[in-house]
Amino acid sequence: MRKEKLVIIGSGPAGYTAAIYAARAMLSPLLFEGFSSGAVGGQLMSTTDVENFPGFPEGILGPDLMIACKQQAERFGTQCLTEDVVKVDLSRRPFLIQGASTGVLAETLIVATGATAKRLPIEGAGDGEFWQKGVSACAVCDGAAPIFRNKPLFVIGGGDSAVEEALFLTRFASRVYLVHRREELRASRIMAEKLLKHPKVEPLWNREVIRVLGGQFVERLQLRHSLSGEIEEREAGGLFFAIGHLPNSAFLGGQLKVDERGYLLVQPGTTRTSVEGVFAAGDIQDPLYRQAVTAAGSGCMAALDAERFLSEKHLS
Ligand code: NAP
Repeated sequence: MRKEKLVIIGSGPAGYTAAIYAARAMLSPLLFEGFSSGAVGGQLMSTTDVENFPGFPEGILGPDLMIACKQQAERFGTQCLTEDVVKVDLSRRPFLIQGASTGVLAETLIVATGATAKRLPIEGAGDGEFWQKGVSACAVCDGAAPIFRNKPLFVIGGGDSAVEEALFLTRFASRVYLVHRREELRASRIMAEKLLKHPKVEPLWNREVIRVLGGQFVERLQLRHSLSGEIEEREAGGLFFAIGHLPNSAFLGGQLKVDERGYLLVQPGTTRTSVEGVFAAGDIQDPLYRQAVTAAGSGCMAALDAERFLSEKHLS
């Protein structure tokens, strides 16, 4: 079985940035970029304009940014495998990394498999329906798009993300409706108060969205009152899920320490995980910031941490 100095799992901004740094440090990284639906390139592949990644004054399409990152990683010698990793064995050294068809040994490992924004199976909100045509799971990424300007926008959720996203959307929307399944917010009190005081925001308590309707883009939503069962239809320019994220850590089989939500724990200020020689970068270890640029930054840190580890252990 071939042995690598560094294997990277994940092909979002964190994985590709780690690969760029590691490849330039002559570590010849092998990167598993995933295969199953939506995996290759990570969350930016389902985003349109990215206007907050530095260096692109006119913005760049999410997929174009990821293709450019991949090309940059390959230019310096990264080898990319379009394959899911199905399991890893971190109890042995070198580690065993088992892809869907390729098995390799690795002296060091960077896990950068990201997180997946939770969505609800609402009629009309799925792929091939109004998903990315007015339905999104990231207001900060997509909210400034022209289709949302001066329209009534709806955010589902009652946590800090929902509040933050709703407040962000007030910059563009004619009105923002926060649709919550209960009548009490989970969000921190200070955030909740800020939201409820905002003149453009209206909470819709005890409500669930049951259907998304429109032509080319979202135009209307059907909502059901969860107590009375009453159904109403409202004009809408957009619908944003803000009901939390799921870190993509299941394939690790519990071999790395995680927090109560499944995010990998790293030693503060580093990318070191609970297993020496395994590093984590991007959203898999970041429940808070979750931005492309913070993921890229931690990818750089992970590559530098791996390089230092290999050199200390005389493995490079
Ligand atoms: P969260 O705190 O888990 O909140 C998720 C929200 O979505 C809850 O209100 C929940 O309703 C609702 N929800 C979940 N499943 C649902 C479903 N099937 N249908 C309808 N609603 C559903 O997640 P989050 O807001 O993403 O925050 C995650 C963590 O990041 C939290 O610790 C948060 O404090 C932190 N965060 C902090 C900031 C900040 O400080 N600036 C910003 C964002 C996030 P229920 O309330 O009824 O369960």
